[in-house]
Amino acid sequence: MGKPDPKCPIRPGEACLLCHPGAHGPEDCGLVWLVMNDPELSEQLAELRREMAAAG
Ligand code: SF4
Repeated sequence: MGKPDPKCPIRPGEACLLCHPGAHGPEDCGLVWLVMNDPELSEQLAELRREMAAAG
């Protein structure tokens, strides 16, 4: 039962590096929360993910 590797939702393809002060992982990362709750930012993130997916 390995601990799942927490991936940063806003830096696609990269593991969570706890870069946000006070974060213990993506689940309590204030930056992730901010992006997910901002329609404009989350749309930009969705677009970035599509580009990443297209690039392989
Ligand atoms: S602390 Fe937040 S922004 Fe930083 S790597 Fe982890 S999930 Fe991503």
